[in-house]
Amino acid sequence: MSMLETSIPGHQGGVAYSVADASGRPSSARTVVMKFGGTSVKDLDRIRIVAKKVKEEWARGHRVAVVVSAMSGVTNQMVKYCHDLNPMADRAEYDAVVASGEQVTSGLLAIALGALNVPARSFQGWQIPLMTDEAHGCAAIEGVDGTALLKCLEQGIVPVIAGFQGVDEHGRIATLGRGGSDTSAVALAAAMKADQCDIYTDVDGIYTTDPRIVKQAQRLDRITYEEMLELASVGAKVLQTRSVGLAMRENVRVRVLSSFVETDDNSGTIVVDEDESVEKKLVTGIAYSMDEAKITIRQLPDEPGIAAKVFGPLSAAGLNVDMIVQSIGADRSTNMTFTIGKGEEVQACKILEELRSEIGYGDLNTSRNVVKISVVGVGMRSNTGVATTMFRTLAEKGINLQVISTSEIKISVLIDAEYMELAMRALHTAYGLDAGEGA
Ligand code: ADP
Ligand code: ASP
Ligand code: MG
Repeated sequence: MSMLETSIPGHQGGVAYSVADASGRPSSARTVVMKFGGTSVKDLDRIRIVAKKVKEEWARGHRVAVVVSAMSGVTNQMVKYCHDLNPMADRAEYDAVVASGEQVTSGLLAIALGALNVPARSFQGWQIPLMTDEAHGCAAIEGVDGTALLKCLEQGIVPVIAGFQGVDEHGRIATLGRGGSDTSAVALAAAMKADQCDIYTDVDGIYTTDPRIVKQAQRLDRITYEEMLELASVGAKVLQTRSVGLAMRENVRVRVLSSFVETDDNSGTIVVDEDESVEKKLVTGIAYSMDEAKITIRQLPDEPGIAAKVFGPLSAAGLNVDMIVQSIGADRSTNMTFTIGKGEEVQACKILEELRSEIGYGDLNTSRNVVKISVVGVGMRSNTGVATTMFRTLAEKGINLQVISTSEIKISVLIDAEYMELAMRALHTAYGLDAGEGA
């Protein structure tokens, strides 16, 4: 069988997809990737329901590949086991443990499909193989060989693939970061040139904000890749950020829909290009992230190069700083406040403490009691006033803004964590997104 190597131009990380010669496949059959998240496979009853859904697609004559997450809670448990044994556990061994949940569900779903007389077989990341870099715990996909999967599809067999995992060039199992099964599904859809990548989850689509926090949230029929990318990157965990970037670059048609209700071809939310998006609203969605910690360095010397002295060592240690604000202090000194992931705060403080005498600052304060709220919309490009509405709305609720940052289609503010729900609801109303207001 001849191999067709496709290197995707402009692809970040240079992902290479190789697929077998597809001759012999019925040209009319649609190829569909169905991905099921943790709550959708949380026990045997749910797995049986998922098997029925897969059978329905397969019985319609589609070529179906399935990607599964671990049962909900299992990955958290695995992470905790590793952490309890050693908080600084070897990352490759950590991956060997945390990838195990998906191995279980892929096998179980293949068994459940067999019980419904649907031929199926499980695949682990290394069996495909789905190749990753060596950044264990948050590895990036470098290539996918679609050959074995396409062979299954041609034979009418449903491959049930363990999401979240791949293998690095040394043969070590690597995981793709929390929520990474979404990215597995998109990468596999690209490798199989699937017509659709359906992400089944516990909500029936992408909403104007997290429907578990704001009851008035409205489901969107469509959202642009760019907006979803921005929403995901500021905390909307309905899709992993990387999965959206990959779908955008590879032109994978992604749909988010519920595994808990009956669905049809029109269910859920489709992620589309900007020119396909029908409505041009100022603000499309609002997201929050509780994953931020705030660090303030006081009485820094107010001189050129000081920011490089502070942030250079943090970035050299692989720590990602997010929002930054600098303010003038007294006596030719300056204060610097920034945010960093909660999991990286301890390491960041350790590095900064070690640099205290070299940089010559006064004191260092941290707070984990903060939340970042972000409003996102492509309409912001051409309209002013979005920021003013945000600031005024939060001021009217008496909420103090600690840090502000903006990008072309996003405004984020850092506020006290206890105001998260109040702020989200007030902003949702202020931007006219509440149900019944025609969002
Ligand atoms: P899965 O286990 O299926 O991958 P996740 O828990 O990762 O599911 O993602 C689904 C959750 O994302 C929803 O239950 C919801 O609480 C949350 N969420 C956050 N923002 C949004 C949004 N804008 N639209 C829909 N869901 C959202
Ligand atoms: N099981 C993994 C996690 O909980 C991956 C996923 O569900 O997408 O993060
Ligand atoms: Mg998820």
